[in-house]
Amino acid sequence: MDTFASESGSSNTHAPVGGNLRGWLDHLRNSDRLALARPGIALRFGVAGVANRLDGTRASVFPAPGGHPVPVISGLLSRRAWMAEAMGVPEDELLARLDHACRHPVRWREVTEPACQQVIHDDVDLRKLLPAPTHNEHDFGAYITAGLLVSRRPDTGIQNVSIHRLQISGPDRLGALILPRHTLAFFAEREARGADLDIAIVVGVDPLTLMASQAVVPIDHDELEIAGALRGAPLPVARCLTNEVRVPADAEIVLEGRMLAGVREEEGPFGEFPQYYGERALRHVIQVDLVTHRTAPMYHTIVGGGLEHLLLGAVPREASFLSQLRASFSCVRDVHLSVGGTCRYHLAVQLEQPKPGEARNVIMAALGAHYDIKHVTVVDTDVDVHDPTQVEWAVATRFQADRDLIVVPGAQGSKLDPSTVDGVGAKMGMDATVPADAAEGRFTRIRVPGQDELDLEQLVAPAPSDWRDRIGTA
Ligand code: MN
Repeated sequence: MDTFASESGSSNTHAPVGGNLRGWLDHLRNSDRLALARPGIALRFGVAGVANRLDGTRASVFPAPGGHPVPVISGLLSRRAWMAEAMGVPEDELLARLDHACRHPVRWREVTEPACQQVIHDDVDLRKLLPAPTHNEHDFGAYITAGLLVSRRPDTGIQNVSIHRLQISGPDRLGALILPRHTLAFFAEREARGADLDIAIVVGVDPLTLMASQAVVPIDHDELEIAGALRGAPLPVARCLTNEVRVPADAEIVLEGRMLAGVREEEGPFGEFPQYYGERALRHVIQVDLVTHRTAPMYHTIVGGGLEHLLLGAVPREASFLSQLRASFSCVRDVHLSVGGTCRYHLAVQLEQPKPGEARNVIMAALGAHYDIKHVTVVDTDVDVHDPTQVEWAVATRFQADRDLIVVPGAQGSKLDPSTVDGVGAKMGMDATVPADAAEGRFTRIRVPGQDELDLEQLVAPAPSDWRDRIGTA
């Protein structure tokens, strides 16, 4: 996993193309992957509908959405290949590059007069300032969905960055779903003393910072330092004007505020990654004290349940799972969270010549690696784990349910999986590897020798209208 160890210590001479948001959009445009909508597309369902139709094909820009002066952008990273491109590596090095960045963070660099503070609004009305769309049919209303929530422990100065769905509940008030990870730990410490947690919400960052925000790292790691590692240079940050939180200096829009101690208000429903709605319940509340932005900013939205939403969660998790599993099992080669499995619930793991029984150990470790992992399929190296059809083929031809199936009842799963009972449900492992004692040739996959090396342009052409005459058949 130390593919990039030779680079550590020396910085890249060229920043990867994903280190600059406007540069990335130019890059997409220059390769026919940026769509410009006609002005005035509706914020309610209009933006999400167009973005979903273009999902995985083109990013989209919406000028004057619903008549609002700030344009909306969406679909910046809706393919794995685009993520690799943004990082400047081949797609098969995507996970290794992310894992390397997590292990070798680069401290940020503080700057003054940042672009993100070119315009300052201390009279906060989020509904007027932000063109926040309403995405799915039963969403409560407009949500901020691509806001990086940056929090800071007052005692150590260590920051955390994560994305949470943020319901616009009032002119200066947000409802937030904060699942039990680092932001909640920071907040719980403050709330126990009756104090609010200072935070900032950053909308419109470069693709590398966006990916870094989703890195799975320990609580004392600032994800902005992983952004630095991915760009090969310290990320420029700026101090907020009303608190000590440091935010990416080149961000489009920053909301400064506080997560309120002792306050919970209704939030939801909201269309989530499993393609179902997260329910309405009492949740955390953020008070926004100040909004700053660039002159002529852009507003990034991630459509709930779209590929950008799914893959931003999947790829950093895969990097973490691959690293964890390899630490225990040297036979693990690759992992994949499939789109059909909501990019969270179905993990495929590729193994190279596991020892007898080892495939089952890998299954058990993978099922325990994260509560979201529900079904694990292990396959051999002749099966591409990134191709769900190949994984299904391995299950169809190498798996026997009475012999190769593991079921664990009553385990902790995802609360957003509607088939569980409040997040508790069964987990399943399928061993679709070839048994070590299988007879020679029994599981050899058919192939045509030389097929992949053929130069088809030299060998065939589209059939012309007189194709029958050419072959002498009337
Ligand atoms: Mn964290």
